[in-house]
Amino acid sequence: MAIAVRRSKSEEINLKVEDKLALNKFEIDRDVHIIVNEKLCDACDLKSCLYACPAECYTLRQNHVTFSYEGCLECGSCRISCDKQAIEWRYPRGGFGVCYQYG
Ligand code: SF4
Repeated sequence: MAIAVRRSKSEEINLKVEDKLALNKFEIDRDVHIIVNEKLCDACDLKSCLYACPAECYTLRQNHVTFSYEGCLECGSCRISCDKQAIEWRYPRGGFGVCYQYG
């Protein structure tokens, strides 16, 4: 028989950021809410999106930025950090996107 145990407040505090992020749930929308202009990205030297995104949605492969929106935390940091204005950003449709378990 399984017994549900409620975590203590101190245990929650001791979780690492990565552990807390792993508790979030996502309702993935087929409608992409962030569109990245890859031509502008390729011409960008700074590639700030790689460092701004806390969810690591942006990765560099063979000097080419690739993007995956599924783990997006909807913080908007990528859009703000991009000085090439290569990122078209909006919130996901209602009922989709991240569901925070903490914070
Ligand atoms: Fe990453 Fe935030 Fe941009 Fe989502 S909105 S892709 S979490 S930086």
